[in-house]
Amino acid sequence: MANSPRIAIIGAGFGGLGMAIRLKGAGVESFTVYDGAEDVGGTWLANTYPGLSCDVPSYLYSFSFAPSTRWSRRYPEQAEILAYLRRCAGSYGLRPHLRLNTEVTAARFEDGTGTWRLTLADGTEQEADVVVFATGQLSRPLLPDIPGAGEFAGTAFHSAWWRHDHDLTGRSVAVIGNGSTAAQFVPRIAPAAGKLTTFQRTPSWVVPKNDFPYRPWARRLLRYVPGLRRAYRWSLFWRQEVMMLPIVFPALGRIAERRWAGAFLREEVRDPELRRRLTPDYPIGCKRVVIAGDYYAALTRPGVELVTEPIERITPTGIRTADGRLHEADTLIYATGFRATEFLAPVEVTGRGGRKLAETWSDGAFAFLGMMVPGFPNLFMMYGPNTNLGHSSIVLMLEHQAEHILRCVRLMTRHRLAWMDVREEAMAAYDRLVQEALSRTSWQGGCTSWYKTASGRVTNNWPFSTVRYGRMTRRPRPEHYHVKAR
Ligand code: NAP
Repeated sequence: MANSPRIAIIGAGFGGLGMAIRLKGAGVESFTVYDGAEDVGGTWLANTYPGLSCDVPSYLYSFSFAPSTRWSRRYPEQAEILAYLRRCAGSYGLRPHLRLNTEVTAARFEDGTGTWRLTLADGTEQEADVVVFATGQLSRPLLPDIPGAGEFAGTAFHSAWWRHDHDLTGRSVAVIGNGSTAAQFVPRIAPAAGKLTTFQRTPSWVVPKNDFPYRPWARRLLRYVPGLRRAYRWSLFWRQEVMMLPIVFPALGRIAERRWAGAFLREEVRDPELRRRLTPDYPIGCKRVVIAGDYYAALTRPGVELVTEPIERITPTGIRTADGRLHEADTLIYATGFRATEFLAPVEVTGRGGRKLAETWSDGAFAFLGMMVPGFPNLFMMYGPNTNLGHSSIVLMLEHQAEHILRCVRLMTRHRLAWMDVREEAMAAYDRLVQEALSRTSWQGGCTSWYKTASGRVTNNWPFSTVRYGRMTRRPRPEHYHVKAR
């Protein structure tokens, strides 16, 4: 596309690569993808803990415009997903556009020129007309502030910084947290560990995963029968889409608690006392549902102990709980999640008239269609505020975002626009719609989660179907934007 703007994409994970593939496919070559890491992959490069896989089937957790029929199983492990992303970067000709090992630390809009000035970690600067942040919601590990944490004499690490050089065989391992991450690695490390103590503050609703390898004949059919892969993806799409229903209809949520997650717990955990401690007291979906067929089984293994007494402090030799017991450990693994509500941090973003994004978001992040914030022209986000899903593949949302941003780029090129900035009124009306719908979901249901801020505002999740998101983002509507001609 001639005269297309210079586009800086920040992040080379699913979002950034998806954007790059779509731009390239539309003939736009004027883009650069920045990433602080040494390769593409984003979260699938950073996280390497044992047992890491996606709990959304890969035929849906992959780009519709970059399909693969190589998946070995329904829920492939991290290495296979990373290999897919690396193949995407290679086969769509993205490598020449990549600037890896290059962290962007600040982005400032220059009112005079109507362009963005990016500061890189080495102190140099780059200019761009359009900036697309694709930095993810789960990229900054959260280390909780537990008294005594610095005194621990053994080996301690966060799940996102797995210490593969630290052999767990025969070790006394303490794990803090019991979300999706812990539920994936605890079953893997429990057999080798001498003793494993897992500290649970709040129980999770857990459902079975039903994973299976694709037989060679099935893989051949998916590869060679015209239309079959698409039909399979379509069936997975609708199967996931209906999972939204228990989140928005409490009566269906209660059925899912009893017949699905509750039934699984009753089946897997025979000890009534352990079962009681593993039973959540908040509606299903309020926190991310854990999808793991082997987690409960791991908790009932000899040598594995579930501790539900609150943690009082970490000592040099273990963890002391409120009942005064010291749980000795030589290895401490934090499965404590991510700083998910701090979107775009730690990049310092400054918009029109010196407006700081961090101040604009001081009561919680928001963005029009999850992509734009008034006062920050030509700055787009992928997987931005209120675009996370509790029920389906985030790649579906990223595809809608890439499509929408591409259309904005086309508009700017066709109409020779210097920038477009979403109007305050459009933002306010959109926010009312989203917040009103969020108030009726199970995410508000009396639990804490990474979906919301400390004050209780749900900043991460999308309260409707992905179909509705696709409809709302399909076409940028001129009445929603201020524009400035070049
Ligand atoms: P998470 O869901 O935020 O879980 C963090 C855990 O740490 C919770 O159990 C939390 O307890 C506990 N915790 C935090 N601070 C604590 C403290 N001070 N004391 C005691 N416990 C503490 O994090 P995650 O398991 O890493 O998962 C994050 C998200 O990543 C998931 O929800 C999912 O969306 C994504 N993920 C996806 C997959 C996949 O297969 N697609 C796999 C892994 C992760 P409380 O509940 O009491 O706060």
